[in-house]
Amino acid sequence: MNIHEYQSKGILKRYGVPVPNGKPAFSVEEAVSVAQELNRPVVVVKAQIHAGGRGKAGGVKLAKSLDEVKTYATELLGKILVTHQTGPEGKKVGRLLIEEGSNIKKEYYLSFVIDRTTARVVMMGSEEGGVEIEKVAAETPEKIFREYVDPAVGLMPFQATRMAYRMNFPAAAVRKASAFMLKLYSVFIGEDCSQVEINPLAVTAEDDVIALDAKLNFDDSGLFRHPEIEALRDETEEDAKERAAAKEGLSYVNLGGNVACMVNGAGLAMATVDILKHYGGEPANFLDVGGDSTPEKIATAFKIMLDGGQAKGIFVNIFGGINRCDAVAGGIVEAAKIISADGKSLPVPVVVRLEGTNVEQGRQILKDSPIKNVIMAPTMEDGAKEIVRLVNESA
Ligand code: GDP
Ligand code: MN
Repeated sequence: MNIHEYQSKGILKRYGVPVPNGKPAFSVEEAVSVAQELNRPVVVVKAQIHAGGRGKAGGVKLAKSLDEVKTYATELLGKILVTHQTGPEGKKVGRLLIEEGSNIKKEYYLSFVIDRTTARVVMMGSEEGGVEIEKVAAETPEKIFREYVDPAVGLMPFQATRMAYRMNFPAAAVRKASAFMLKLYSVFIGEDCSQVEINPLAVTAEDDVIALDAKLNFDDSGLFRHPEIEALRDETEEDAKERAAAKEGLSYVNLGGNVACMVNGAGLAMATVDILKHYGGEPANFLDVGGDSTPEKIATAFKIMLDGGQAKGIFVNIFGGINRCDAVAGGIVEAAKIISADGKSLPVPVVVRLEGTNVEQGRQILKDSPIKNVIMAPTMEDGAKEIVRLVNESA
């Protein structure tokens, strides 16, 4: 789960990680009143969206007067901000962060993530901060340093010190930097994060070390322990279909195309998306229905896929293992009854490929059912070709 920068900074502050003073604002008036309260020569007006790259896209403005705060707040609120992370459709700015300006001497990069290979938390740091770290990683990987954390003892002070020297902090800031790292590690562990990224971490003219930006991601499996974080969720930032699917226990990712697919198993779901692409289709989604495909679950999946007219066809690709093909076929028939008024047709063509346990019974159920626009495919390849053909035909 993702939260906004100002919310992340609120959490950092609780752990004693230095962040600039500031507050969120939801209107121009509020922005001006927060700036007035801060009473500093320079305040920063920052668009709050769940994406980075705001600086380059014009979402971070330095204001030197209340008038300028007003101008920038008016410009940013309600604007669709397009950054290299939002995709071409951009994200609408509904909130701002108004904070005191900092006297930046140099910008650094610092993050904690989980390294899957070593199954450990890794701290990554670089003196090439402020810019896209992906670019540093691609062009000058030797400028990114790593410290792997032994879970039994946590991040050790010597590791933080070593990182601070490698990142080339000025002498007067080394101890502050290592203290910053240790506190940030406490945030990562204490809040069950999956990622904590500070880019930029700044050293100021006074040699203070401060988080100018903050991106916290949380492990969804740990969220039940943090109702206060769950409460920070901004649903306007999330895909409505993905939200609805998550509530029903379905693993669904919207891919934006028009050929929906319903598959069991993440691997087969990936392969299905690939084969649809291969035959010229645009997958609408990734959807893993999981092992138990009750009619209600299948009907819910169909409803989510069909919502808003996005899907022009559905490809059902099931390998019956734990999931029996007859149960899935029964589920499709039941789903059709729930979704269609007459129980005889679905709003878009459905191609079904079934294989595995009880496949003959499954095929028979679909053959005997009154639903008209369900087509059986003998193989995955045939099914993919057929649904792409049907969708293109209707377009
Ligand atoms: P991002 O582009 O979405 O990652 O947004 P950031 O919060 O990282 O801001 C982008 C850039 O704006 C930073 O790299 C800084 O150079 C600049 N910036 C952010 N906050 C301040 C500030 O308080 N003072 C100054 N002078 N610049 C800032
Ligand atoms: Mn940033």
